[in-house]
Amino acid sequence: MKTIISKIDMNNIDLEELKKQAKLLREGKTVIFPTETVYGLGANALDESAVKKIYEAKGRPSDNPLIVHIYDKSEVYDLAKDVSEKAEVIMDKFWPGPITIILNKKDIVPKTTSGGLDTVAIRMPSHKIAREIIKEAGVPIAAPSANISGRPSPTKANHVYEEMNGRVSGIVLGGDSNFGLESTVLDLTVDIPMILRPGSITKEDLEKVINEVTIDPSLSKKEDNKKAKAPGMKYTHYAPNADVYIVSGDEDKVIDRINNMTEDNSKNNIKTGVMCISKNKKQYIGEVIALGDSLEEVGSNLFDVLREMDKRNVDIIYSEAFPTEGVGQAIMNRLLKSAGYKVIEV
Ligand code: AMP
Ligand code: MG
Repeated sequence: MKTIISKIDMNNIDLEELKKQAKLLREGKTVIFPTETVYGLGANALDESAVKKIYEAKGRPSDNPLIVHIYDKSEVYDLAKDVSEKAEVIMDKFWPGPITIILNKKDIVPKTTSGGLDTVAIRMPSHKIAREIIKEAGVPIAAPSANISGRPSPTKANHVYEEMNGRVSGIVLGGDSNFGLESTVLDLTVDIPMILRPGSITKEDLEKVINEVTIDPSLSKKEDNKKAKAPGMKYTHYAPNADVYIVSGDEDKVIDRINNMTEDNSKNNIKTGVMCISKNKKQYIGEVIALGDSLEEVGSNLFDVLREMDKRNVDIIYSEAFPTEGVGQAIMNRLLKSAGYKVIEV
């Protein structure tokens, strides 16, 4: 497939280019564009044949539902019913932004979009390019992360170009995503709202505006993962080519253990990558890549570093563990999945 590429300067957005891409969406074709979370692979959410092209381009299982992206809050009432008072509070407080809400769907949303479910996931993104494209398309846009299913989500223009050129009708290249982790997914069809996927809007953030919020308990353990309430959380995900292990415990012990394992690996010609916080970088041997200083930086760099490890052809990756407060919850969720839940406690 010939892909039309639009390279956009964020400081001087070329609206004509974006209109060209939005026209492809109106014609039932697929277009990749940046959002504040990760790059999304979009198509008209209300057109079944357009939505099928998303599943094909990603190789995504058909029972894994898509998030519907809207331009204006008023569209929610066309797509969903039983919009509760809590849903109103969440939308007013956090939209546009990196949180997706699950509501009961109306018939206008095809089952292909909702992965066969009676509910629909909706988000209003804040990214300038995403907003402009959705507005110009004039329809709600289903847009999962723009990676081949199972791979780390794309957070930089070169990630989508390298992986998806030729697989979609259009790609808008527009710099780096701001958060670098996918949106928080919050189920509002239950009495006590439940986080089905942690993201940069945290449980603590949500509890400031609605009293009680739970986290899907099946997210923390491998054995329970099959019971995850968001179908997408059941699948292997965020996996680089190398085997990933998380090493957890006292900082000094973690550093010693990782270096010992790296040394053993090198004797056996196994190339080892290490992911750590910046301040520890100099303490490690092997292919060491720092993830950043703060949890926010770690979150925004994680997927890029996993892809960089692939480029460096490492066979094994050891990662430090991170605290599960705030955005750390989302980081550890993605890291555990990329490691297939393999944790070495020291
Ligand atoms: P992606 O857009 O690829 O980052 O994935 C969207 C995530 O939201 C996946 O984990 C989906 O399974 C989840 N999701 C989308 N729609 C629903 C829904 N109606 N109910 C539960 N989870 C959903
Ligand atoms: Mg995804």
